[in-house]
Amino acid sequence: MLHSHNAMQPAFVLVDDDLFDAHRSDSVHPERPERLRAIRQALTEMSPHLPSETLPARDATHDELLRVHTESYIAKLDQAAGLRGHFDEDTYYSPTSVAAARRAAGGAVALSDSLVSGDSKLGFALVRPPGHHATPDSAMGFCMLNNAAVAAAHARALGLTRIAIVDWDVHHGNGTEEIFYADPHVLYVSLHQSPCYPGTGAAADCGRGDGQGFTVNVPLSANADIHVYKLAVERIIGPILSQYAPDLLLISAGFDAHFRDPLAAMKLDDSSYGLLYESLFAALPTRQVGNTSVHPSVGVLLEGGYDLAALAGSFQATVEAAVACSDGRPEAYGDAHPNPSSAVVSPVHEAELERALASQRRYWRLD
Ligand SMILES: [Zn+2]
Repeated sequence: MLHSHNAMQPAFVLVDDDLFDAHRSDSVHPERPERLRAIRQALTEMSPHLPSETLPARDATHDELLRVHTESYIAKLDQAAGLRGHFDEDTYYSPTSVAAARRAAGGAVALSDSLVSGDSKLGFALVRPPGHHATPDSAMGFCMLNNAAVAAAHARALGLTRIAIVDWDVHHGNGTEEIFYADPHVLYVSLHQSPCYPGTGAAADCGRGDGQGFTVNVPLSANADIHVYKLAVERIIGPILSQYAPDLLLISAGFDAHFRDPLAAMKLDDSSYGLLYESLFAALPTRQVGNTSVHPSVGVLLEGGYDLAALAGSFQATVEAAVACSDGRPEAYGDAHPNPSSAVVSPVHEAELERALASQRRYWRLD
């Protein structure tokens, strides 16, 4: 019997905060407040049949940040508070950016709290600035604090021992990888365009020390569509998630692998994200509680995605699929949105999948 949520319960929790809009460049920049507005609008349009509950964000504490960032970097951020400038050529800050970043990381903590305590099974964090390029000691690639890493570290602090982060942003999450590279308690999985910014994330990079086998990189060259992504899940990521059996799944959800995105060259469309979510969820093993199968909780944190229409549509598709999955109807999204029929995967992508498989076969049982 599959778990089904009580009709009185919200379908998901949503972290959002006005402060996230206060992070704004004084010149034209793709990482802009309008991104959140587009998503909020899309959520409003679907909300009549999707009851959600807002989870208040709060500021991350110094100790919560210190789990993944260095003392000196946090001090450097504090010195930038109230000012305007750039941490690197891509990463601007406005007078309220540091406050927004702290609130975004705190929103990720709040989400983690809610999911780990069992108050919710599914949550979304509409956070800005994004996080996955932020390393322990530097801002990078539009990111200041690593929200997903802070959420995972918080879940660890609450006692979880197996947390999976799947990063489907089109760019490799170099910061998240670096933070957990030697840590077997956080499995980091990234699907990303390569070559592309930031240039990290080779298939052979699988972790270090105790963390060997707990970093899974699937670099793909341009023009990969949903068929390639689904094959990556079917052959590599799904079996690894199934064997790892995470207590919590966090998704670093960038939507810049969409064909409309101006910063990359992949070929996903809105419904691809729903199908991708569904295939990841289907790979998660369940735990038996009484006569009910319980899936791990899932937290989806916004990363990139710079075409507003693509962002809104893809986020909406992800929510629809996630709600169907958490309702115990994982097939509902796929049945309504069948894969496009021309399932031809290029020899280049086949070879890339094979390389990622070969790297991971040392650590996991894979066909
Ligand atoms: Zn990105």
